Amino acid sequence: QRFRASLADLDETVPGPNRTQDRTHPVVPQAPELFDNEPDTDPALPGNRRWARVVLERSAASDLGVATITAARVVDPALLDDLIEGAADAGARWGATDAAERARVLGAAGEVLSAFRGRLLEVMASETGKTIAEGDPEVSEAIDFAHYYAERARELDTLDHARFVPARLTVVTPPWNFPVAIPLGSVASALAAGSAVIIKPAPQARRCAAVMVEALWEAGVPREVLRLVDVEEGDLGQRLIAHPAVDRVILTGSFETAALFRSWRPDLPLLAETSGKNAIIVTPSADLDLAVNDIVKSAFGHAGQKCSAASLAILVGSVGKSERFRRQLVDAVSTLRVGWPQNPTSQMGPLIEPADGKLLRGLTRLGSGERWLVQPKKADGSGRLWTPGVRTGVAAGSEFHLTEYFGPVLGIMTAATLEEAIELQNAVPYGLTAGLHSLDADEVALWAHTVEAGNLYINRGITGAIVRRQPFGGWKRSSVGPGAKAGGPNYLRTLGSWRAEWPAM
Ligand code: GLU
Repeated sequence: QRFRASLADLDETVPGPNRTQDRTHPVVPQAPELFDNEPDTDPALPGNRRWARVVLERSAASDLGVATITAARVVDPALLDDLIEGAADAGARWGATDAAERARVLGAAGEVLSAFRGRLLEVMASETGKTIAEGDPEVSEAIDFAHYYAERARELDTLDHARFVPARLTVVTPPWNFPVAIPLGSVASALAAGSAVIIKPAPQARRCAAVMVEALWEAGVPREVLRLVDVEEGDLGQRLIAHPAVDRVILTGSFETAALFRSWRPDLPLLAETSGKNAIIVTPSADLDLAVNDIVKSAFGHAGQKCSAASLAILVGSVGKSERFRRQLVDAVSTLRVGWPQNPTSQMGPLIEPADGKLLRGLTRLGSGERWLVQPKKADGSGRLWTPGVRTGVAAGSEFHLTEYFGPVLGIMTAATLEEAIELQNAVPYGLTAGLHSLDADEVALWAHTVEAGNLYINRGITGAIVRRQPFGGWKRSSVGPGAKAGGPNYLRTLGSWRAEWPAM
């Protein structure tokens, strides 16, 4: 009884993107066996370093030698309708296959992705500017998603008294910042749950999506079940999202995009992981060396272009006055090596596009009472390479406090007490990741019970969630839809509907 009630909780009954989510989801009992996460490439081994150099050389070559196939670039509405309807028909057949068969194909996809590691890194570096150090764990995450959802697919057949009815067609609209792991995770979850998929690539990461889709086809996913459909954003994008044959949309992007999708189709069954404005609190009990290291990694990894990135550090009490902390932070940030990924010594790569609009403001303009501890500067003429910036004196309720910039700029706030710091952390409209650096158990307990975010990290960086070990998803305006976390036990169950197996007697 209780189990069925909790299944109903996962239904898409709550409309609109604005609702505050309950962060407790019913948990499926974990399978007893451990899940083996895919290891990253060990850069300490000379052979691996040579391999990485070859990957980077190829990524610098003009023609790349990647992505032979490609997206159907659709400009004709009637053709788009045909593709959608054809995919929905294929989805009905795919959903009728045994979950074990779907799991087998996804397991094979994990193997193919592993064999494609070099190609994936090459295309990520050349197309989006991702460094090998950032891209390599991303490929591991993609492989984990394939194996993990394969494992979870099997249990969909076995839930008691409720039958899982797969969605026929899921549309995936991924972002460009994790151009392999996020599309792969979204596509693999839908395929595992028995749905056909149309993936509309992010315009900045079309080739990454193409290589990823090629890997899935090679693993045995039928081509009619997984289609890469490149539509211009605008009328055709709207036509795709609003088409009645589309049963689910998985979006990773901004909160505004989720709201736009909902405006196109108010009843849209949407699973969206959206924006973030994430802070790390540091209390006087913290290991300050560790805190500096984790703040810098979380703020400037992939040039801050992660929903999960740290954009604020909130310093409690004496930490805000500590000259040593300030100096260490400034040293660490100002010595980061900024450069293109093809140079293996680059620690922070480029922006996806030349900075403009909101991000350019964040990199160049100070709010009242703010000053630069480290001022960001253009590192070349492209507009894409910027040295990282740190501003201090960010005021509660100011533009910098509440805005997501998605780039390499960190703001420092101060608070007299931990309670005040938590208020600042919770005052943002989003709730994706949140960090605390403290070695005091009471502080940790207070924080863990009051912070409003989907992913909490204590005494470590706040990016880089790991499949199954740290399922990833947001709260408040960082999530729209049922809110189950990606890479966790509930995700697949939100990708279909549930029908009672037996009437009550
Ligand atoms: N899953 C990523 C992480 O934990 C973030 C994904 C995103 O930026 O959308 O860092």
